[in-house]
Amino acid sequence: MSIRNFFINISDTLKKLVAEGEEIQRQKEIKIQENISSASEHFLTGYGEKFHCSNEQYIRFQRSLSPENIGKVVSVNKRKITMRICSSRNSNNIYTTSLLNCDCEDFKRRNLPCKHMYKLAYELGVIDENWDLSGLSSELKDLLDSLSPTAIRTLIHLMDNYRNTYKFQVSKRTASPLVKSGFLIEDTSYELLLDKNYNKNELLAFLSSSTSCTVSTKDKKPQIIRYIIDNEPKLLKALCDKCYTVSFSDIVNDNFDYIYRYCQTLQ
Ligand SMILES: [Zn+2]
Repeated sequence: MSIRNFFINISDTLKKLVAEGEEIQRQKEIKIQENISSASEHFLTGYGEKFHCSNEQYIRFQRSLSPENIGKVVSVNKRKITMRICSSRNSNNIYTTSLLNCDCEDFKRRNLPCKHMYKLAYELGVIDENWDLSGLSSELKDLLDSLSPTAIRTLIHLMDNYRNTYKFQVSKRTASPLVKSGFLIEDTSYELLLDKNYNKNELLAFLSSSTSCTVSTKDKKPQIIRYIIDNEPKLLKALCDKCYTVSFSDIVNDNFDYIYRYCQTLQ
C-alpha cells in the first residue's frame, strides 16, 4: 500500500467514525426529545381541560416567566427531565423539579404544578412565553378586543359588583355596547325595573296626572306596577328609559374568570 493510499484509508476510517459518532449523538437527542414529549404530555393535558388556564395556575405560569418571582436555574438535566433551581426567597435553598413533582412548599401543599415546574417546561421548550392560557376562544377574544375602553371598564365594574347577582340595573347609556355585543342580556321584565327603581309613593305621584287612573294609595306596590304596565305605555317608557334590567349572558357566565382576567389586560 502506498503512503498516499494509507492516508486515504485512515481519512476514510476517521470520517466513518465521525459519522457514526454523530449518528449516535443524533439518536441520543431523538431519544431525549421523545422522553421529554411523553413526560410533557401528562404535564400539559393530564390535569384536565383548561386546568392551566385557571387563575391559580395562570399566576404560577406568569411568576415562572418573571425574574423577580423565580430563582436562578442551577442546572437542567434533559436526560432525566429534571432541573435544580434556587428558591426565589433564599438562594441557598435549592429545589429539584421534574414535570411531575417538585421539592417546594407550594407543590407539597397542593400536589399540583408549581411555578418551578412551569419554569422547567419552559427550559425544555415544552411551553413558551406565548402559551395561550387566556381560556378564551379567538372569537371571544376578538369580541372583547372590539369593545371600547369605556365598555371594558364598565364590564369589569359590573363583574366586580354583580358576580353572584342574577339580575341588576344599569344605565342604558353605559351598558348599551355590552348588550349589543351579547355580554349582557336585557331583561324585559318591567316589574323588576319599576320595583327596584321607584317606591310606591313615587309611582303614585307619576300617576296623579292621569285622569283615568284606577289605583289608589290603598293598592299594593305590585298592583300599581301592573297597572302602569297594562295601561300607561308612555309613562312606562319614560320610567324605564334610563335603565336596563340585565343579567350576564351565558358567554360571560361560562367564562367569567377568563373574561375578567382578559379585560384587565385590555385596560
Ligand atoms: Zn416548585
